[in-house]
Amino acid sequence: MVDEDGRSAAQRSQELHRARDQPESRARLEAVLAPLHKAQRLVESALERRAQAHARGGTQGGAAANDATLTVPAGVWPLLDEAYAALDVYLAHLLHTAAIDPACAPRCSACCTDLPPILPIEALRMLRALRRDVPERAPKRIQRAVELARAFQRHLHQSAGGVELLRDKTLDTSAPSYREAQIGWRRLGHPCPILGDDGSCSQYADRPLSCRAHVHVEDPAHCEPQSPRFLIAERPPLWGHVRECEVEVALASLGKLLGLPGVPNLHWGMAQLHGHPSAG
Ligand code: SF4
Repeated sequence: MVDEDGRSAAQRSQELHRARDQPESRARLEAVLAPLHKAQRLVESALERRAQAHARGGTQGGAAANDATLTVPAGVWPLLDEAYAALDVYLAHLLHTAAIDPACAPRCSACCTDLPPILPIEALRMLRALRRDVPERAPKRIQRAVELARAFQRHLHQSAGGVELLRDKTLDTSAPSYREAQIGWRRLGHPCPILGDDGSCSQYADRPLSCRAHVHVEDPAHCEPQSPRFLIAERPPLWGHVRECEVEVALASLGKLLGLPGVPNLHWGMAQLHGHPSAG
């Protein structure tokens, strides 16, 4: 598809690749990674201190050190805020350099009936932000997330290949059967539990990486499941280069260090982690 500036999807994709290779883009991506690496070191230090304390307390304590869920050290949260702010700057810089003007606009929620992929630390951050920013509304939103997660599990169970997927604890979200179930879910039109009544993301600063990197250049009506272009509408590849994957690896490793379970999407993550001691 060629848009009004005369460029094809392939040309926009090439422009994005060129933009990424610029020294300024690399520096901006480093600005995302640096606080994440600091956060990792903070968690590693906390784990070491805990292991030493348990070692001093004897063998029983040592066993507990391996099992217990670690509370997120307070210094991790501002570092995550710094990383996500830098991520927004990086993505905006890529779009600007590649002269791509997304059709996505404030209060456009055309894609907010999806199941955004999420990393466990992001789900925890979202829960914490909800309880901190809107304590009066948080229980309702969390309850809604739990209900939607259960409904999606039932939907997955009834989808082709869903039973096999659910049997595997790691739930392979790259499997075609998960993707099929996800598309079927979107057609049901359930709004994301974070979507505000005014049609905008109620926790915009805390939305996961997948929502930040999800942009379209076509009419937002094409993002609706009823549109004939729903499955083929152009999404410029704003994310996914091997250097960018380092950000996901750093976020995922924070979750692993903290002992958080893997979660496939935002609804599921909120349902699974809302009782975590660091979730607010
Ligand atoms: S977290 Fe926000 S941006 Fe992402 S799907 Fe939900 S409402 Fe939309």
